Amino acid sequence: MQTVFVKNFTLPELENWVESIGERRFRARQLFRHIYARRVRSWQECSDLSKMFRVQLEFGTQLDALTLIEKREAEDGTKKYLFELHDGHSIESVLIPDPPRQTLCISSQVGCALGCKFCVTGSLGFKRNLSVAEIVDQICQVQREHARITNLVFMGMGEPLANYDSVQKAMQIMLDPNGMAFSHRRITVSTAGLIPQLQRLGKESPVNLAISLHAPDDELRTRLMPINTKYPLAQLMEACREYPLPPRKRITFEYILMDGINDEPTHARKLITLLHGVRAKVNLIPLNPHPDIPYFQPPEQRILDFQEILQNARINTLIRQSRGSDIRAACGQLAAQYCRTAKA
Ligand code: SAH
Ligand code: SF4
Repeated sequence: MQTVFVKNFTLPELENWVESIGERRFRARQLFRHIYARRVRSWQECSDLSKMFRVQLEFGTQLDALTLIEKREAEDGTKKYLFELHDGHSIESVLIPDPPRQTLCISSQVGCALGCKFCVTGSLGFKRNLSVAEIVDQICQVQREHARITNLVFMGMGEPLANYDSVQKAMQIMLDPNGMAFSHRRITVSTAGLIPQLQRLGKESPVNLAISLHAPDDELRTRLMPINTKYPLAQLMEACREYPLPPRKRITFEYILMDGINDEPTHARKLITLLHGVRAKVNLIPLNPHPDIPYFQPPEQRILDFQEILQNARINTLIRQSRGSDIRAACGQLAAQYCRTAKA
């Protein structure tokens, strides 16, 4: 029998699966609670299941999809988790304490195909999509390390909307009251702007949306983010204007500030025009430097000036300071250098 990764299943799928092996459908709900609420490490801990069912699970299924290889803590308390996958690839997740919140930044792919010029994950190229189990297990394993997670952001390695189906199913498990029971207000999908999937997400999932913008005109954005050729700014902003937002919610626009590239007052003014008619808030992120990246952080005053121009136009604008950069855990620095297949 082929090994079944139980964390690949949403609750309705798990119900079908338990039925297919001769058990009653309600057992699925029990399994879901054991997996996501009790966070068992072995089926032997599930004493409310029959011995026969437990043996069946023991031999036919796999609970964990990831192996925790290393955990590092930065000076500011940010923790980076390195996981190995079954085929030897590796990914990283980052836990960012920001009391009372604890945000886990999760990966959706090994590498990324979009090749943004400021991002180390992008410079790795694309290896493969993560399965549903590999996405949700990042959360399970960090919770198992006794970490209380309050918020989830798809801002680790990869482009979540390029792995739409698995990300969508993983979110169903995160949101399921019998599963991880997170509120949709506490989950954020960040995307470089894949428009068709963005439109699908708006129809199918009520989670928060963040758009990686980083440039206010097509010429510059295409230079920094090649995906802009396929989905240029006018179309992206149109999709944002039409995005079905619940009342009082806004789309977050991420804008990495790069010294001498996109940090002039003219860029800020173009950004104001671009965001016209969009319920937006802006996160300014001073670039996280890396030896493989040809860009640098602007001086602090330039960052403050940029913020002021946006704020004067009544755009809610925050400066997001980098966390965990001393252990290369900051945005865009995730490279998961431990990779058996790559070394071989
Ligand atoms: N692919 C998705 C999600 C992962 S990237 C996306 O691009 O939105 C998460 C965030 O980190 C994005 O906003 C991305 O633009 C940002 N990022 C990438 N490289 C960075 C760097 N060197 N410094 C700061 N932020 C970076
Ligand atoms: Fe991919 Fe996002 Fe990095 Fe761009 S910024 S290469 S979309 S992970």
